[in-house]
Amino acid sequence: MTTGKFTDSFRHKGLRKKLVEAVKQKGITDIGVLAAMEAVPRHWFFDSGFLEFAYEDKAFPIGAGQTISQPFTVAFQTQLMQVRKGDKILEVGTGSGYQASILFQMGAKVFSVERQRTLYTKAKEMLPEAGYRIRTFFGDGYKGLPAFAPFDRIIVTAGAPFIPEALTAQLKPGGILVIPVDKEDYQVMTTVTREDDGSFTTRQHGVFRFVPMLGDKAHD
Ligand code: SAH
Repeated sequence: MTTGKFTDSFRHKGLRKKLVEAVKQKGITDIGVLAAMEAVPRHWFFDSGFLEFAYEDKAFPIGAGQTISQPFTVAFQTQLMQVRKGDKILEVGTGSGYQASILFQMGAKVFSVERQRTLYTKAKEMLPEAGYRIRTFFGDGYKGLPAFAPFDRIIVTAGAPFIPEALTAQLKPGGILVIPVDKEDYQVMTTVTREDDGSFTTRQHGVFRFVPMLGDKAHD
């Protein structure tokens, strides 16, 4: 459907090309990631009054005190995930649904959990209208999604005070968790790989800033 809210003009496409070029300049090399960012209209995830901000490489408020992550951060986390077509992926922190849509665009089966009721409801309505078939859940991402585990990949899109064991436990052998872990007032981008022998390998990938991962209770 390309009426109303879900239009994608030449201008938008042009701005998106530029954004992808900027992200590439900053070091993103995975062509699957770059192609998905060029394909998914980021302005669809913004309220209509703020469309002009959609193609800047910046985070932006999406309501309920949350933000849509900066495009470079989305690209960086997605690149770390080494997404393969058909991968079953869990996202913690649906927010606007943009990151989930990038993963869907790359051919993944995406499950996404959000603990803020308003954001969950908004994404649950908007994503299918926009053509992104993502399974959305209202709940606490600290627990993962045991009913649908295990996953090939898990991505956390909020700053986590620690690496929740429930998440590493829900990785398949060879699976990768990408999670920004709190350190003072910033986060260290961290990957945890579940090796075939069941052991875990943790690696760090530089400093980022995220909104905090919150509480163990889903909020209205
Ligand atoms: N991936 C989002 C970015 C969202 S910002 C996007 O593409 O727009 C982080 C999100 O994580 C917020 O929406 C916040 O409400 C959510 N969040 C924080 N703690 C959470 C938790 N424990 N479980 C699930 N979601 C959580």
